[in-house]
Amino acid sequence: MPTKETGGCLCKATRYEVAGKQEFTIQCYCRDCQQISGGGNLPLYVINRDDFTITGPLKKHARKSDSGNDLELQFCGECGSPICNTNSLLPDKVFIMAGSLDDPSIFSTNNKVYETSRQPWDKS
Ligand SMILES: [Zn+2]
Ligand SMILES: [Zn+2]
Repeated sequence: MPTKETGGCLCKATRYEVAGKQEFTIQCYCRDCQQISGGGNLPLYVINRDDFTITGPLKKHARKSDSGNDLELQFCGECGSPICNTNSLLPDKVFIMAGSLDDPSIFSTNNKVYETSRQPWDKS
């Protein structure tokens, strides 16, 4: 079975391919992920950077995490959909927003992080 996942943004101008398997998954409830998603948390599908090919009018937003790591959010410059994050703590990984996958049903996780920032209305 070939393991090639694809995904992209809302307007379809930005598209990506993942040539390998997922490394791990997390569901993150931190404030950054709430602001990126506009919701309660971000489900993240984590892959090796070498397996990731992305095309489109991508924009990037760089910032520092609370712990001082360099984070970079990548989003579609056309429609603004968040696509993925990178983190200097794990420089060879890409954290894909699982909802951007063409088949988001492949995502599952038991790995919930930053639950201290979880909102009371976010029961997922
Ligand atoms: Zn777009
Ligand atoms: Zn987070």
